[in-house]
Amino acid sequence: MQTHSTVASLRAALDAERKAGKRIAFVPTMGNLHEGHITLMRGAFQHGECIVSSIFVNRLQFGPKDDFDRYPRTFEADCARLVDAGVHHLFAPDENELYPTPQKYIVEPDPFLQSTLEGEFRPGHFHGVATVVLKLFNIVQPHAALFGKKDYQQFMVLSNMVRELNLRIDVVPGETVRATDGLALSSRNGYLSEKERAEAPHLYRLLVAMRDKILAGARDYEDLQAEAMAELVSRGWAPQYIAVRRRSDLKSPTAHDSGLVILAAAFLGTTRLIDNLEV
Ligand code: AMP
Repeated sequence: MQTHSTVASLRAALDAERKAGKRIAFVPTMGNLHEGHITLMRGAFQHGECIVSSIFVNRLQFGPKDDFDRYPRTFEADCARLVDAGVHHLFAPDENELYPTPQKYIVEPDPFLQSTLEGEFRPGHFHGVATVVLKLFNIVQPHAALFGKKDYQQFMVLSNMVRELNLRIDVVPGETVRATDGLALSSRNGYLSEKERAEAPHLYRLLVAMRDKILAGARDYEDLQAEAMAELVSRGWAPQYIAVRRRSDLKSPTAHDSGLVILAAAFLGTTRLIDNLEV
């Protein structure tokens, strides 16, 4: 694997790969890699012969109260995992390389999509995500890019950005990878105490129970959401939202809509966990 810390070095290497006729498949990350990330790397081989990943903890997508400073940075271990997965190029710039001057041109996603759910509780998050991903896309110029459905709303923001801005990139979803007890893998799981880690899979169990009720005919989504929030509170969580939405646009469904997804965000202690489940 070649590791590049500058845009110029990565561009030169990828120009050569393209000249050799290779398709480039790209998996951006913030590092602290786990099996969820590595599954995306493996999936990338279905979409290109040259696999590129990036590690960059993007300050622009963190709010002032978010965990930017304590976000886990495990570069050496990440490199070993990427080599194992057969990744060809890693782009690992520092902040000066990606933001040599303060970023003044910003991608503003769809006003509804960037202000609902995650956007309500993390204002500015999606403009930070969309801006860095557009920059990375312009640097890497991939044929395909893979993103996990674990970050369901992020996937939608980015695939809509690619469509509306006419980027020639196939945006490919990856299924959420979970621990055997159901907890969605996340770099933030490392913040959990032993006791919290034992409680954490309850979020997924709750989503499964809600899905089963909907599949059995329940359509009183407001009640289902309120019950689930109350259950989490009673178990010591501080939920931010549990919402049944339409997969197509993340708007609230009517009783006749099908193609739904249940999305949730909740604090367990000081750790913010998100998860979702399609119905
Ligand atoms: P991050 O490093 O958290 O920015 O994540 C990088 C990519 O990995 C994003 O596309 C995430 O959606 C994806 N990802 C993170 N966790 C998982 C998971 N448990 N399963 C599948 N994809 C994931």
